[in-house]
Amino acid sequence: MASLVLLVISQRQHTSRTSKTNRTSRTSKTNRTSQTNKTNKTNKTSKTSKTNIMKNIIKKVESGQRLNAREGLTLLRDGDLYQLGGLADTIRRGLHPEPVVTYVVDRNINYTDICISACKFCAFYKAPEDERGSVLTFAELGKKIEETKALGGTQILLQGGLHPDKPLEFYEEMLRFIKGYNIHIHGFSPPEICHFATLSGLSVREVIVRLRQAGLDSIPGGGAEILADRVRQETAPRKCSADAWIAVMEEAHNLGMRTTATMMFGHIETLEERIEHLERVRNLQDRTKGFTAFIPWPFQPDNTVFAQLPKTTAFSYLKMLALSRIFLDNIDNIQASWVTQGPKIAQLSLFFGANDFGSTMIEENVVAAAGVSFRLSEEEIRHIVLEAGFAPRQRTMDYTLVAG
Ligand code: SF4
Repeated sequence: MASLVLLVISQRQHTSRTSKTNRTSRTSKTNRTSQTNKTNKTNKTSKTSKTNIMKNIIKKVESGQRLNAREGLTLLRDGDLYQLGGLADTIRRGLHPEPVVTYVVDRNINYTDICISACKFCAFYKAPEDERGSVLTFAELGKKIEETKALGGTQILLQGGLHPDKPLEFYEEMLRFIKGYNIHIHGFSPPEICHFATLSGLSVREVIVRLRQAGLDSIPGGGAEILADRVRQETAPRKCSADAWIAVMEEAHNLGMRTTATMMFGHIETLEERIEHLERVRNLQDRTKGFTAFIPWPFQPDNTVFAQLPKTTAFSYLKMLALSRIFLDNIDNIQASWVTQGPKIAQLSLFFGANDFGSTMIEENVVAAAGVSFRLSEEEIRHIVLEAGFAPRQRTMDYTLVAG
């Protein structure tokens, strides 16, 4: 009997516990449901407001209005690749209604690989104490220029490492020698010019004036990487600051020289820092109108300190290219980077904002040192452009079309 009573009590207790548990579980289920509903609602609201923000940005681009940094960032982060491509293509066709894709025939001459900067992303330089480092002789320079001219080349892209002790007179003599071949000299990126100024004790302006008098025609936009000082400090602390890079370009523009602007992305920078870079370039262009083109290209990690970083995908490259076309509303030309992307993606670039195929690069050493070895002849470039439905046209640095 006692055991029967115990069993009944135990069952009652169990029943009561179960019903309590059920009640509790029902309540918590109700709470959970209401919580889920609330979360869903919040997600829906935030999704709707995100969609509205994106719609407004797209409307702004379509009506030709300038995007601010916040809007540029939203488009880069959340925009759909095809949507960005479509917008960039419309802008590109508006700026260049003729179905033409331009390119320049030139040679990249690196007069020295000896460099004191030791940038972590560079696979090209040799430290001053490294016996493998070299400086080209004038005889070597002359041979390269003759070969370039024989191939219909119109310019030399002249760049080198930051040599520890060559005086300014050395560079002036080199320019005068090259100029003897009657060819356009697109040379010395801002970090080199800042380095010459430091070594010579002259101002940046004085250095540019002297180089120009010796034959320098225009300045390439190299050494910009990402124009944000956090990134520059971490990747290339000995190189000139973002402000100094802009200051060199501003001096050159004010002296009447044309230059290009580049961006090397896809390493340690944030998306915000990419936008900061674009904004600095756009602001300077508002002041001077000196940039002829913008060239965004992805970092190539092999053989560098950042070898462990993943390579930028074609998807990210095209997105950045399209965003550059959209955001830089005051720069006429955007170049495809076939040297890093290869011919197929470069061809696709022509529908994502690029209107220029860059240079034939009869010689290229810096990207090749990072293990990337795409090579295209002028004929191949013309074929790729034609296949994409555009007419290929050779141009000079300032985008004047070459007759023929
Ligand atoms: S990127 Fe230019 S400045 Fe930097 S280490 Fe290489 S050669 Fe020198």
